[in-house]
Order: sequence, then structure tokens, then C-alpha cells
Amino acid sequence: MRIRVLQTGKVYVSHALPFKDAAKNPNPLQMSLLSLYGRRNRIWLPVSAYLIEHGDYKILVDTGWHRAVSPDGEYNRRAQVKHMGLGHFLLNQGLVPKGESLVEQLAALNIAPEDLDFVIMTHLHTDHASGLKSVKNAKRILVSAAELDDTKKYPIRYVSSMWDGVKLETFDFNDTGVGSVGKSLDLLGDGSVELVNIPGHTSGLTAVKLNSGGKFVLLFSDGGYAKKSWQDLIPPGTALDEELALKSLLWIREMSLQENCVESLANHDPDVVPHVITL
Ligand SMILES: [Zn+2]
Repeated sequence: MRIRVLQTGKVYVSHALPFKDAAKNPNPLQMSLLSLYGRRNRIWLPVSAYLIEHGDYKILVDTGWHRAVSPDGEYNRRAQVKHMGLGHFLLNQGLVPKGESLVEQLAALNIAPEDLDFVIMTHLHTDHASGLKSVKNAKRILVSAAELDDTKKYPIRYVSSMWDGVKLETFDFNDTGVGSVGKSLDLLGDGSVELVNIPGHTSGLTAVKLNSGGKFVLLFSDGGYAKKSWQDLIPPGTALDEELALKSLLWIREMSLQENCVESLANHDPDVVPHVITL
């Protein structure tokens, strides 16, 4: 199994979003560009996506920013507001340098969207779902039913136009005992690709555990924002359910400390650079 860790541009957020500011504990409005607190101490974080090649399967995890965020490869306020609306723009700004959008990187690997057997969406927040339309010709595009439910329950947290005309297929987790709440799905039926529910950040948040030869790689999406999140148990600044987010972080920690864990990766870890893992 080969896992390519790709980065599709960057996201600019308040420092209090990835790592809770215990002293201040700001609300989302205070983390936005509307507040002085939100304008101060903003940090650029990478936006990851992953391409897994396993046997004949090509599986993509998340889609990163769409080219529409930076039509000329540069920071473009107007293009972003058009793509995600003002509210989301005020919370997180994006940038995709030339050649770094997901489809551009896939094309460089000679992979067309229709070659992808699965696109797995860990969740549907803007910085993960923005590129969805660019891979809409993939064979199957999967998101957990719990995540799609969240988009209806909390529409303000999402930009549903990002999947307009995209055939999103939902899946349910099984009660397997795997994961922070014991729910997972064995995608291919051979134990190689496990989709594991790690709720908290969103209800349907999905980690991807890739198993081969007794070893594994864990892609924990926004279950934490860096290695230090699980090492020092630092929760993110916002979560739909803080208690569950901590429970999921504890599971990520437990998995990451296992001897046969080859790598354990957060989507937005500033210390992770694009690389290839052979498992
Ligand atoms: Zn994210």
C-alpha cells in the first residue's frame, strides 16, 4: 500500500482554533477577522489530502481547497468570498498556489478524477470539501450519514454549494468496537481500510486507519491539529461536542502510541510536509 500525503494549499486561522486558548476561550466570532483578537496571532496551516494506492484501488481522502479560492494562485479575497461566502471567509482564509490544487497534483501523477475508486470525505467543512466538484467524476464519493445530517442540522457551519451536483453517497458505521465510540466501517471488506468514527469536531468525523502487514497509518483529520494535540491532550478551540472531542483525542493518542503505528497524521499539522509512505 502506498500513501501519498498531499498538501493542497493553506488555511489561515486564529491560533485559538487548532489549540484551545485556555486563558481566553474565544467564541467563533472572536476568532474571526471581525474581532481584534481574531485578527491577531493568525497562523497559516497546511490543508492535506491523501491518495492511497492499494492493489488496483485508488482512494482519495478529502479534497482540500478548490482552485476557485485562488484563481491566479495568489491570495484573493473576492474569489474566496464568492466561493464560500463572507461568514466562512471571515473565519478561515485560504490560499492555493499554482499547481497545488488537488486535481492539478493528481494530473501530475497521471491520475484523472474518474480513475479514483473512492473519495472518502472525513467531514464536510470548507477546507476539506472545497475541491469536491473537481473530483465529481470519481466512481464513488462517500461521507458518513452522521456528517451529512450535521450539514442539515447546523447549515451555518457548512457551504453546501460545494457539493451541488456532486453524487454524495452516505455510509453508516457498524458497531465494531473500533474507535472512540466503537463505530467503524471496513471499506473493502479485507480489513485494509477502516473508516473510524471519531466524533467531537463534528458528529460524523471520520478517521482513516490503513492496515498492512501488521502495521498501520492513522489519518485522524481534524480529531486533533498536530502531534502535540494528542501528546499533550490539547483540545481544539471549537468542537460540536467537547466531551466527545476529548474522548476521540484519547483514542487517537492510544492508537498513535502503539508500536505498530507507522505514522499518525492530523490534516493541518504544520510540521507535516508532503511525503510518501509505503506500508
Ligand atoms: Zn479542517
